[in-house]
Amino acid sequence: MTTLRASKAPRFLACPGSMKHPDDTGSGPEAAMGSLEHKWVKHHLKDDVLPDLAGYDDDSDERMLWNMWLQMHRELVDPLITSAREMGAELLIEGHLLCAIDDAGIIGSLTGHPDLLIIITIDGKRYGLIFDWKTGRVESHLALDQLRAYATLAVANYGAFEHIDIYACYMRSGNYDHRRLTMPDIAEFGERIKYAGNNPDRLCAGEQCQYCPGATQCPATQETMAMIARIEDPAATVAEMSPGKVIELYGQMKAVKGVIKKIEDAFKSVVYNYGGRVEGPDGKALVSTVIRTNRELVGPRVAEVLLAWMDEDDLGSCMKASLSKAEKIVSSKVERGQKGKEAKALVEDLDEAGAIKRTEVHGLKIEAMPKQIEEK
Ligand code: SF4
Repeated sequence: MTTLRASKAPRFLACPGSMKHPDDTGSGPEAAMGSLEHKWVKHHLKDDVLPDLAGYDDDSDERMLWNMWLQMHRELVDPLITSAREMGAELLIEGHLLCAIDDAGIIGSLTGHPDLLIIITIDGKRYGLIFDWKTGRVESHLALDQLRAYATLAVANYGAFEHIDIYACYMRSGNYDHRRLTMPDIAEFGERIKYAGNNPDRLCAGEQCQYCPGATQCPATQETMAMIARIEDPAATVAEMSPGKVIELYGQMKAVKGVIKKIEDAFKSVVYNYGGRVEGPDGKALVSTVIRTNRELVGPRVAEVLLAWMDEDDLGSCMKASLSKAEKIVSSKVERGQKGKEAKALVEDLDEAGAIKRTEVHGLKIEAMPKQIEEK
């Protein structure tokens, strides 16, 4: 029996076969932010207290996102709740809803955890508000399908609504995307979910491939890449195509981009693990992660370089930590706006001190922090 997860709706609606790939959630920074955000909902809305952020640095990503989240709550969510309360509405606030649709065993089930579902009942009529906070940088219309799936789940669990307002909130920009769904809208969306559930083997490459864990092994993306590689003069070919074909090609091109992004991510994770960066033959960074490593730094040459940037106390605290911590300390000591330049200078100095090893592989220049810098 197929289990469809609402959070993956943008992907499985476009490509039902993608649900066969193992989950790509549950770990990593995005998942960690997601669980933090669930805690914030609980603290702020249920317990009416602010969460304890004592363990996070002032310039940490978590604090920046928390501030934006709180601002969006105060400007967008709280006024909606207040006016509903003033109208005498009964409010059911669910921060963590789990429910399932089982259509007589035909489609299997649909499950999901909306970030926040608010059900308002006025004069026996039910209205819904669903919010989902996005911590990533990409703002895409595809996110709304996830919220439409939550709306479908809400109807399956609570019965008919007058309408349900869905909000995809982007925590990095403060933007949000809002739609009002009527019951016919939700029923129509339910049909799309059933179609996906009934066609679990159907593969369709497109924009959604960039979020699919199977992108680098999928026969559909491989075929698409091969097909695009066979186009000899893409500009002329596109000009000769019908509008429908151009749209199809655009979707396929997005699939290829998605696969390339996956390969780039794999590359980055190697660089992340070893530290350093990867440059193309022209000297430009192919992978922009300059240096991030949690390996302990030992070695008098590195200490010598770092001492030019910080005092002994600071150095003592970062020597046992990591180079990225050292970079942070250096950055905190320079003027705003100069951080990138100063961090680059630090890398150059470390390079000169021989702390960075360079190798050439197939024309790519790879810089890597040695695992442990040997004392001389
Ligand atoms: S990579 Fe693309 S085509 Fe292949 S299963 Fe995933 S979403 Fe579907």
